Amino acid sequence: MRDIHNIVILTGAGLSAESGIATFRGPGGLWEGHRVEDVCTPQALARNPELVHRFYDARRAKLAEVEPNAAHLALARLDTEWPGELLIVTQNVDDLHERAGAERLIHMHGELKSALCAQCGDRRPWEGSLPPESLCAACGAAALRPDIVFFGEMPYRMEAIERALARADLFVSIGTSGAVYPAAGFVQTARYCGARTLELNLEPSEGSFLFGESRMGPAGELVPTWVDEVLAARLV
Ligand code: NAD
Repeated sequence: MRDIHNIVILTGAGLSAESGIATFRGPGGLWEGHRVEDVCTPQALARNPELVHRFYDARRAKLAEVEPNAAHLALARLDTEWPGELLIVTQNVDDLHERAGAERLIHMHGELKSALCAQCGDRRPWEGSLPPESLCAACGAAALRPDIVFFGEMPYRMEAIERALARADLFVSIGTSGAVYPAAGFVQTARYCGARTLELNLEPSEGSFLFGESRMGPAGELVPTWVDEVLAARLV
């Protein structure tokens, strides 16, 4: 088995659950009481922009009430202290990884605190509510939308993610149900390229059988323990 130098970590909504942000596919498959078809698709945005903007305004406002938990802090510590290559790929649209101090980070599904102009593609940081009539600072169009990757849209930075997966010695998936592609397929890519694979999750996910090792429990407990192990081994 090869030494660990390159680590890729995929995180999902379960990582932020202990901070008080609801996960997605809880009972009933709703996200904060909404069907995903009503708030997370380009069709929903075209049909009812007020509802979609209000939904993401509420998610953005919620960020002021939450803090990074022990799992975010442990991953930020790993990012700072790990001397080899490391990439955290998050499906989360909250800002808790960066508030914990993580820097080697890709938000593959976008960010609540960013606005995207559907007209010209300009993207810039956004605080507070984002009414549908807001004007783009670059082109002047009333075409700003939450900078979120909706179902049916292409996730961000896929080339960089694929490159990192191809080089990974260790792939770790944390707090994700393994139901949303392409992220759910990362474990197969990493395995195919020779990486060890580890899942940390509250309960077995749909793709648990694909991992070489699975540990079950709350991320706030599992992640700090795992980070301590990796840093103690320093297998670079
Ligand atoms: P998901 O909600 O589908 O699955 C969450 C997973 O986390 C489940 O497997 C669950 O068992 C596990 N989990 C719950 N509590 C946990 C804990 N305390 N510790 C460890 N694991 C725990 O989430 P997903 O797979 O990330 O997919 C959901 C999609 O919804 C993503 O694309 C994301 O963009 C969006 N989303 C984001 C947020 C956020 O930004 N925090 C929240 C909800 C949904």
